[in-house]
Amino acid sequence: MAQDPDCIFCKIVAGELPSLVVAEDDDTVAFLDVNPATPGHTVVIPKAHHRDLLTIDDDALQATLATARRVAATASDRLDAVGINLVNNCGAGAWQTVFHFHVHVIPRYEDDPLRLPWVPTPGDRDEITATHARLTA
Ligand code: AMP
Ligand code: ZN
Repeated sequence: MAQDPDCIFCKIVAGELPSLVVAEDDDTVAFLDVNPATPGHTVVIPKAHHRDLLTIDDDALQATLATARRVAATASDRLDAVGINLVNNCGAGAWQTVFHFHVHVIPRYEDDPLRLPWVPTPGDRDEITATHARLTA
């Protein structure tokens, strides 16, 4: 299994750094985030080192998402969450700080402080059409 000796999440997988594990199987592990956005905020990772969403293989991605869904269901049941956000940051430009692929499972509660970081407003139709062309040409 691919490991990076300088990666803090690989060190968690190897038991070299402590973590509070909430779910684990052969290919994935989920542990509580040390800087929780809300109570129960969990980081779900493949045990093998993959840098990010663009480089992880489909099998490892699928296994990680399956564990994320299990964690989400448990948080819903046990923490009385009213909803769950799954977040993945891919690349430093998108706030990724640990370069071992992970999915954040963030339970949501009535009146918690989290807000969308952008204000949804209708897009420019021509710009949307031009972007569609760039993505599909
Ligand atoms: P990201 O910014 O998407 O790369 O998220 C990395 C996350 O890992 C952050 O939410 C950190 O709080 C969390 N984190 C970093 N080190 C640890 C650790 N040793 N144990 C648990 N969570 C960690
Ligand atoms: Zn790693």
